[in-house]
Amino acid sequence: MNTKPFRLLLACLLLSPGAVTAEDAGPVLLIHGGAGTLRAADMSAADRAAYEAALHAALEAGWQVLADGGSALDAVTAAILPMEDSPLFNAGRGAVFTADGHNELDASIMDGATREAGAIGGVRWVRNPVLLARRVMEASPHVFLAGQGALAFAIDQGLELKPSEWFWTERRWQQMQRATLQGARPPGPSEGRFGTVGAVALDAAGRLAAATSTGGTTAKRYGRLGDVPVIGAGTWADRGCAVSATGDGEYFIRAAAASSLCARMALAGESPEEAAWTTLAAIRELGGLGGVIVLDGTGRASFAFTTEGMYRGRADAGGRRVAIFAAGEQP
Ligand code: ASP
Repeated sequence: MNTKPFRLLLACLLLSPGAVTAEDAGPVLLIHGGAGTLRAADMSAADRAAYEAALHAALEAGWQVLADGGSALDAVTAAILPMEDSPLFNAGRGAVFTADGHNELDASIMDGATREAGAIGGVRWVRNPVLLARRVMEASPHVFLAGQGALAFAIDQGLELKPSEWFWTERRWQQMQRATLQGARPPGPSEGRFGTVGAVALDAAGRLAAATSTGGTTAKRYGRLGDVPVIGAGTWADRGCAVSATGDGEYFIRAAAASSLCARMALAGESPEEAAWTTLAAIRELGGLGGVIVLDGTGRASFAFTTEGMYRGRADAGGRRVAIFAAGEQP
């Protein structure tokens, strides 16, 4: 039997863009370090270099996991850890202050392959909130723990705690003082909010994961929880899509941003880029600004933001690239 036509058909199917699989795409990691009022003119060369180096360190940590055949879940965890430990970002060390002078940390993580998720909110003294969110997912029957109960669970799990001074940075303290002097501001687009960190990854087995970590918003009321620990608002991953968001959390919650973005891709057939912009437009309509990083199961990616800038980076087999300012300069 002449099998040539069938082989030709098979080759066409495999080569057509619609037939790209995770194995073809290879592993991909996207990260963000928050969206906000970032202008090249306002940033010194030294600060820019420091942020770029910190983004590269996060990409390197996450990429090592993927390059060694590790899971997307381990990759997003590994990418978040150095950003939580860096005083440059609003997550872990370097988190913003509440109006009464504390650091209350929020984080979440989601495994797209299993739809398991873990989140923590309003937690103090935990060095790496993303690890606590992951422990909630893997070592508790719950999805979301907050405040004292989350701290007690961190202690049970043997996670590392740090004294308040470890989280303290002059820059965040000054931002809180200025915000407090200006009076309590309603939630909305504002300066000094950026720095939340997030990661989404696709591994060699085609699994997706997402994680996000933050100190929330400057001078927030104590007890305030943002979108970051709300699964479906700031973080989401399923079999076809992974999202981590940053921006005015109240609006991202009200838009169910991350899960509705993925639903647009699954149900309306939108690309990551289309779904990202439609979601951000809906949030802007409500009055909020911010950004998202999005990956699908074939490695299609989007970095979209309605702010002036978003710290961001991408790692794949082609290398590691980072960007901070205009949407034009995508990594
Ligand atoms: N979305 C975060 C929050 O509202 C803040 C941010 O991403 O800058 O807590």
